[in-house]
Amino acid sequence: MPAKRIDGVAVAKEIREEVGRDAAVLIARGVVPGLTVVLVGDDPASAVYVSSKEKACVAAGMKGETIRLPADTPQAALLALIDKLNADDTVHGILVQMPVPKHIDPQSVILRIAPEKDVDGFHPVNVGRVWIGESTGFAPCTPAGVMVLLERAGVSVAGQDVVVLGRSTIVGKPMTSLLVNASATVTVCHSRTKDLASHTRRADVIIAAIGKPEFLTADMVKPGAVVIDVGINRVVDPSTPKGYRIVGDVAFGPVSEVASQITPVPGGVGPMTIAMLLKNTVRAAEQRA
Ligand code: NDP
Repeated sequence: MPAKRIDGVAVAKEIREEVGRDAAVLIARGVVPGLTVVLVGDDPASAVYVSSKEKACVAAGMKGETIRLPADTPQAALLALIDKLNADDTVHGILVQMPVPKHIDPQSVILRIAPEKDVDGFHPVNVGRVWIGESTGFAPCTPAGVMVLLERAGVSVAGQDVVVLGRSTIVGKPMTSLLVNASATVTVCHSRTKDLASHTRRADVIIAAIGKPEFLTADMVKPGAVVIDVGINRVVDPSTPKGYRIVGDVAFGPVSEVASQITPVPGGVGPMTIAMLLKNTVRAAEQRA
């Protein structure tokens, strides 16, 4: 029987509605949850992400603001802006859209954002809080979204063997900490892993986040496993109007024949990321109200 699809669009909608209700409670108390996104330069993909973040905030009844800075903005000016936003009581969440231009050190930017406003969850204070399971910490939005998808798909990871493919700071590592705190037994695979398929074949749950189109094939998956595909890859496809299509890190069709549940790409993990950003922003506002 083909795997059940985990519908990220529907779950993200539920989360955005829940966030809207939580925001309304705060607004009734005179606090409008506010997210400020800073975009340095004019990278077209980043511009699209930023405007969808602002729109999603406004749709949830929150304040969404985007500050656009020219690509040659000096690092000192960006850090001074972050200081100003840190001190602004109407701003509950601050996000500097990555990547920043090459002359700016991304780590200096991350370190400058007050941890209480770091709704992206990249500040080392939040990384630590999430690792030790402290509820005030902000987890990065994509792995946090994966946890919600699993939960709402009725998948309890406690005691399960979970394999995470990828060890990046934004997905693989925080994914691992969230899973360990949810009592999963976690194996993290990366480019130096020997015989990667021997790990994935015994996993109850596989989370693929490596950025390689359709890397996870059906022979690498145990029958009945749950497969979550974080990957977003553009592959050339002359048959489409744009000349490309988006695929995940999982060979969706064949793996669907083996897995019990699976996320599609697009329409799986992707929509969860912005929903979790809104959730983190409302939490930041609640923590300071
Ligand atoms: P990175 O490039 O930062 O990390 C990729 C990871 O995969 C690394 O740990 C790397 O290992 C590992 N890896 C690469 N190739 C292989 C291989 N052949 N075998 C085993 N491991 C390998 O990617 P990100 O974590 O930023 O993103 C991963 C994917 O998720 C991308 O497709 C990205 O577009 C997508 N993504 C989706 C989001 C969403 O909202 N849905 C948000 C963020 C990312 P090593 O460390 O050894 O180099």
